[in-house]
Amino acid sequence: MSQSLYSDYSSYIRKLFGERVQKISLNTGYGCPNRDGTRGYGGCTYCNIHTFSPDYCKPQKSVSQQLSEGIQFFSARYQSQKYLAYFQSYTNTYASFDLLKQTYEEALTHPGVVGLVVGTRPDCISDEIAAMFSDLATRCYVSVELGVESTINRTLELVNRCHTFEETQDAYALLKNRGMDLGAHIIIGLPGENEEDMLRHADTLSALPIQTLKIHQLQIVKHTRMAMQYEQEPSMFRLFDLEAYIDFMARFTARLRSDIVIERFSSESPDRLLIAPKWNGIKNFEISHRVKKKMMEKGLYQGCDFRNSKEG
Ligand code: SF4
Repeated sequence: MSQSLYSDYSSYIRKLFGERVQKISLNTGYGCPNRDGTRGYGGCTYCNIHTFSPDYCKPQKSVSQQLSEGIQFFSARYQSQKYLAYFQSYTNTYASFDLLKQTYEEALTHPGVVGLVVGTRPDCISDEIAAMFSDLATRCYVSVELGVESTINRTLELVNRCHTFEETQDAYALLKNRGMDLGAHIIIGLPGENEEDMLRHADTLSALPIQTLKIHQLQIVKHTRMAMQYEQEPSMFRLFDLEAYIDFMARFTARLRSDIVIERFSSESPDRLLIAPKWNGIKNFEISHRVKKKMMEKGLYQGCDFRNSKEG
């Protein structure tokens, strides 16, 4: 099957490093301003922090220990010699400047680590932090991924994100053209959004200065506010069935800027936590394969339906 239907992440990373590079997830336990009252209480309505991390990453362990255990885990499965330290859980720029710097430096001194991938909220980027990433990017690969989640303010409010899309645009403005890759994370299927709203995310994301994109279907997981809403008012939600999602993803990808590298089309919450939608345990790689197949059937390719949107 052709690889050129969309820009895929593993090819991008292979081209960048000349070989396969494995991400090692890390959990710093820095917390979240949307849980401790700084921006809000209770967190995003869909968030269950236990869906984030593999078992080996616990914030009680040092970054070095988590890296060692993660590398040991993956080296039994893959031949990778190079690793990216992936600060995945919570909000990984939500700590003092000195602690952040120390944490990232600790990761970079670990044997085999060739770069950093840092996930965070848009409202936790300052000029000082952007400058630190820019400085690190002169020595190694750095990617900063922002949780955009939706480009529509009423949705962000409905899911209690406690930041606006304008704050997202401001964060990208601080980070852009500073030598790092910039990534975005979007959730497809949040309450209150219709199909055209969700397709328009592709236009708006395309106007952001991003290199990479992670797309997730909305999943309702246990022990979240959304799980309660789903039980009490299921009509708030229009969850995708698998076929409809694959068809939608083909059309969404067609509307994206052609050079945005797609890291994933879907996510898999642990079955013990997932309430809906249940897609019979289909794996992310199978979904990617089916999206490609659907694009071929429909004669689509990434960017073929790109619509110019205002600069984000
Ligand atoms: S999704 Fe991220 S920002 Fe939202 S509550 Fe969870 S950790 Fe905080």
